[in-house]
Amino acid sequence: MSIKDIKEGWINHMLTNVLKLKEPSPELQEHIDRRYDECAACPHLTEKSYFSSKMKWHMCGKCGCAFPAMIFAYEKRCPDKRWDVVPKDIRGDD
Ligand code: SF4
Repeated sequence: MSIKDIKEGWINHMLTNVLKLKEPSPELQEHIDRRYDECAACPHLTEKSYFSSKMKWHMCGKCGCAFPAMIFAYEKRCPDKRWDVVPKDIRGDD
């Protein structure tokens, strides 16, 4: 996990899913969906809570990244080799 991965993952996650300012190409969405499905089914994904037990988030127990922001970091690799970097030709960032 690098600072660049954290920054890129959160920015892409916010622009795509929260603010709806970025729309992934079908190829990129398919890649992100595959990453999502792998993480969602992975035994290393753990639920965490903060401030109070009512506030939940998920974290990878292998790399410490926050889910789902981490699946939007295009250069990131799964530490358990379940998924790889997003190919440059489908990222849509020039
Ligand atoms: S990044 Fe890899 S090891 Fe971590 S939760 Fe996702 S699939 Fe599992």
